[in-house]
Amino acid sequence: MKTLGHWIGGKSVESVSGNVGPVYNPATGAQPTHVALASAEEVDSAVDAARRAYGEWSQSSLAKRTAFLFKYRELLDAHRDEIAALITSEHGKVHSDALGEVARGMEILELACGIPEKLKGELSTQVSTRVDVASIRQPVGVVAGITPFNFPAMVPMWMFPLAIACGNTFVLKPSEKDPSAPYRLAELAAEAGLPEGVLNVVNGDKVAVDRLLSHPDVAAVSFVGSTPIAKYIQSEAVAHGKRVQALGGAKNHMLVLPDADLDFAADNAINAAYGSAGERCMAVSVVVAVGDTGDELVAKIADRAKKLRIGPGDDPSSEMGPLITREHRDKVASYVDGARGQGADVVVDGTGYTVDGHEDGFFLGVSLLDKVSPDMDAYRDEIFGPVLCVVRADTYEEGLSLINSSRWGNGTAIFTRDGGAARRFQLEVEAGMVGVNVPIPVPVGHHSFGGWKDSLFGDLHIYGNDGIAFYTRGKVITTRWPDPAESGGINLGFPTS
Ligand code: NAD
Repeated sequence: MKTLGHWIGGKSVESVSGNVGPVYNPATGAQPTHVALASAEEVDSAVDAARRAYGEWSQSSLAKRTAFLFKYRELLDAHRDEIAALITSEHGKVHSDALGEVARGMEILELACGIPEKLKGELSTQVSTRVDVASIRQPVGVVAGITPFNFPAMVPMWMFPLAIACGNTFVLKPSEKDPSAPYRLAELAAEAGLPEGVLNVVNGDKVAVDRLLSHPDVAAVSFVGSTPIAKYIQSEAVAHGKRVQALGGAKNHMLVLPDADLDFAADNAINAAYGSAGERCMAVSVVVAVGDTGDELVAKIADRAKKLRIGPGDDPSSEMGPLITREHRDKVASYVDGARGQGADVVVDGTGYTVDGHEDGFFLGVSLLDKVSPDMDAYRDEIFGPVLCVVRADTYEEGLSLINSSRWGNGTAIFTRDGGAARRFQLEVEAGMVGVNVPIPVPVGHHSFGGWKDSLFGDLHIYGNDGIAFYTRGKVITTRWPDPAESGGINLGFPTS
């Protein structure tokens, strides 16, 4: 069995901690790989490599950094298929979806290629006599990234390309459930000429995370994962004097107004609820059917749900793959039974689903729960699986109030033909990302991604301009070149212009 170690100082490093974790192929249930779980000392050596690389990298010219970024972009482009296959083999999502993940991650790398434009400072001349003021942004130092299992390539790429483009060095702690794709990203960065120590990968679990959070040489932490851990990361990082952005979980609602095209809405609900087996932080997990749309909409979604082809992600005919682990699959299934017990209509029941020839895989069929109410567990918890809840609402206001009562505020969407209603929704809904007839409004790379409420702890969203602000700190320089003929004179007053 293969054991995946760390990538430190530009080379692969075997773990000496003696601790490993299992990495499964969710389609077969086999466990072909172990992943090293770093000790605190191993984390220290990764941070040390990043700290040593920081001096030269932070001083490197923008031309040198962008030369690397363009080359890396071309190399990743040539390796899209290979990275997608690695994602599928450990996460389970279908190959086309994994390719989409790589493409969306590369958007941020493409943004990073334009970093000279983004790091241009501001200059005001003659703010006072012969006094100029310049604002510049500089890197923060060693940055740590801690990432979730559900986008093993894209979420790390939300972070490190921009961080290193800004002149920082980086230590990535990927999810221990599917570590091979992020590891490969680091190998390819080295192949594209990234100096050793600028990007390091340390595999591990809570031990590694806790050491990153307390390490005095880590200046900033980007985290993406579940809400309880995001909250913990933020408070620990702040307690250790670090800047932090910690993106958490979600429960995304799709509001369907009576005037919507219900076939279009049903197609989109299916794609957004069951794509990647519902293991997306921007998945739609609740449809709010307004007015008299409910029965027809549920019938249309159910009809489509029953026809979905579920199978191994490397089979091109599969539309949905397995879940990440057996335990998670069973937990997701328990919400379907629980909702039935609490009074929901189980219109489509995906529990007990098996795929011929893959009986040990972590498969689950898709489930559709109707007449769900906000007090049911299936509504209250983030299920993170292929379970779609439908809640009925009499009016737009009732639907909006339901969404705004949620503890999460990641993404949301409205489906309507009424521009006025859509405009009202954009302004009134409490969520960080809003779609109008777009079910998964993940912003493109040059905008920023982030939710409100329990979906994000910290101030700045991730990637886009917020990402650049997070990975840099501002400095303002006030300059005077006095005329040699003038004397300065003594003046103890507070300087004004
Ligand atoms: P998770 O919170 O379990 O793990 C995320 C990371 O934190 C991993 O690297 C893991 O090793 C580490 N970790 C786990 N437990 C820890 C602990 N007790 N102490 C310190 N570190 C710990 O999340 P996951 O299951 O890998 O991913 C799914 C979750 O991530 C969902 O809740 C999903 O909504 C969320 N997510 C959010 C976004 C977003 O942008 N808001 C994007 C993707 C995923």
